[in-house]
Amino acid sequence: MKFALVIPDGVADEPQPLLHGKTPLEAANIPHMDEVARLGIVGQTDNVPASMPSGSDVGTMSLFGYSPLEFHTGRAPLEAAAQGIELNAGDWAVRCNLVNVTDERMTSFTAGQYPSDAAKELLTVLQRSQCGDSHWKFHAGVSYRNLLIYRSRGVAAPFSKETQSTPPHDITDQEITPYLPTGPGADVLRELMNESRPLFAQAAVNQQRIQNGQLPATQIWLWGLGQRPAFIPFEERFGVRGAVITAVDLLRGIGRLLGWQIVEVPGATGYLDTDYAAKGKYAIETLSRPDVDFVVVHVEATDEASHEGGVHEKVHAVEQIDKHIVGPLHSWLKTQGEYRILVCPDHPTFLRTRTHSHGFCPFAMCGTGLKSGGATGYGETAAAKSGHVFPSGWDLMGRFVKG
Ligand SMILES: [Zn+2]
Repeated sequence: MKFALVIPDGVADEPQPLLHGKTPLEAANIPHMDEVARLGIVGQTDNVPASMPSGSDVGTMSLFGYSPLEFHTGRAPLEAAAQGIELNAGDWAVRCNLVNVTDERMTSFTAGQYPSDAAKELLTVLQRSQCGDSHWKFHAGVSYRNLLIYRSRGVAAPFSKETQSTPPHDITDQEITPYLPTGPGADVLRELMNESRPLFAQAAVNQQRIQNGQLPATQIWLWGLGQRPAFIPFEERFGVRGAVITAVDLLRGIGRLLGWQIVEVPGATGYLDTDYAAKGKYAIETLSRPDVDFVVVHVEATDEASHEGGVHEKVHAVEQIDKHIVGPLHSWLKTQGEYRILVCPDHPTFLRTRTHSHGFCPFAMCGTGLKSGGATGYGETAAAKSGHVFPSGWDLMGRFVKG
């Protein structure tokens, strides 16, 4: 059997005054998602435990059938996996932002969208300063998003689950002192952050940026640390071989750790201008391979529209997903014998608050062996009425693949 999961990131939302009291999903013209709902089952799933921050890393982990309470160890290990950095037992990954702190306030968590080539130079400076310590290894990523890896080499790291850190994007314009790392090993992280200050102040790439009137990176900000999550491979757990299409690093990382193939699509930007049709085409191509049973197509555009507060952009984005991804993919699946298709966002992103939210997401799934529950369309209201509720979102995958 062939399986497809389409994730319109953050599409779940509240009724909008600008949409005459309808949610973006309900206002959108989405005949193909409506068809999935009509042919099969709609319901609600809660993918983000109340104790965790809402985000795609947590929400998709649930959607993929893994409890984030059990398997989520931090963002950095997922990003390390996305970059192909293997973590061994005892190793830790730490997010290492290049930031601008002025007058002890977080002026910019991206250090003015710091360019990748200059970032690489700063990381080289940092690595050189740590050359006496065989545990620390800095890895340049893209722009301000870099990683610091603690290689245990048989020596236990000073960190634990109790080590607390703060994402720098949560404290823009605020004083940093109350948000410095706390708990086991926090002193080590603070020291590394402090040590970067004089090194960055002297760095030629920063001097150049100041001369050009651009923001320099004044220091590193360490956060999101964790060890390699102990995922049971997806195939072992659900008996199907997976692949994922996404422009988001965190999801690539989860996919890799689950043993999925990572499919790169040209034109996939993770933004509103993403090439929807290319994603749809690649989804079909991927699923037609004999070694793939299950494909995930993740589209970030709906989430981005919410972050920008764009009601009509959000409606438009989900219509594009419907037309260019769900439509062609479902048509093709119908010609393939046994199949199932599931549409569900990872978490709500409210236009009102422009941020990731907790709460139920509507899902729709149909295909072989799934009887119609009588829904007329896909949306929050229809999902709430159906009576199919997954308070632990990670239980839905078993129902979809095996139920
Ligand atoms: Zn998301």
